[in-house]
Amino acid sequence: MQVEIRKLDGDEMEFVLSDASPAVANSIRRAALRDVPIMAIDEVEFKANDSAMYDEIIAHRLAMVPITTPAKGYVLPSECGCREGRCEKCSAELELKAEGPGMVYSGSLNPSDEEVRPVNSSIPIVRLENGQRLELVAIARLGLGREHAKWQPGIVAYKYMPVLEFDPKLCNACGDCVKACPKDILEIVEKKVRVKDLTRCTMCKACAEACSSKAVKVSGDPTKFIFKVESTGSLPPDQIILKAVESLQARFEEFPKLVKKL
Ligand SMILES: [Zn+2]
Repeated sequence: MQVEIRKLDGDEMEFVLSDASPAVANSIRRAALRDVPIMAIDEVEFKANDSAMYDEIIAHRLAMVPITTPAKGYVLPSECGCREGRCEKCSAELELKAEGPGMVYSGSLNPSDEEVRPVNSSIPIVRLENGQRLELVAIARLGLGREHAKWQPGIVAYKYMPVLEFDPKLCNACGDCVKACPKDILEIVEKKVRVKDLTRCTMCKACAEACSSKAVKVSGDPTKFIFKVESTGSLPPDQIILKAVESLQARFEEFPKLVKKL
């Protein structure tokens, strides 16, 4: 198996996985969405809430705010010895104190650990009218995407590497396929069709349909995949994939042990 990183920029990453199978590619995608622990607000203690919104709605909104996850230092509450999910190994507090009038943003959350803070400070939470107060302590914990979408570290998707074949015996370089391609990735060079950027092909087959001499064949390579990762900002996108593979490895190591017990 080989991995070639094509783009790694902020919260976005694109890489090509080759010499693999659809099962491997899908396992990586599913593990990234379900089994990578990240921080999210999991419990809120309200001290004052004069706003028009119920406590539950504000708590739900806070849970949707992406929170940064430190590389080390925290464990899942289920793996922590404290059992209550309130010790400093498995939880971090973010305090919020606001008074109206005005909009309360995610930036008002004051973290107890600087490494566990909102990814973005401009996410609106609730509007307060003149004299209204909002005071609360939010508790962030590690969790998994399989439990709740608030612990999903981002979006991971892949497609097969496109394969475009132009039969030289049938192709007369008429250029109909070049005009038909919605992604504009084809061109005619020296009476032959040339693909400018294969990875941008969506396999829509517009080129094959436009070709009156049936010289174009579009297919996907089931051993090569183009992955796109978009992080919520909680973890860097390369870390999402690395941790997904680690979780798969751990499960594959556990599997033979469980089989032996049978
Ligand atoms: Zn604990």
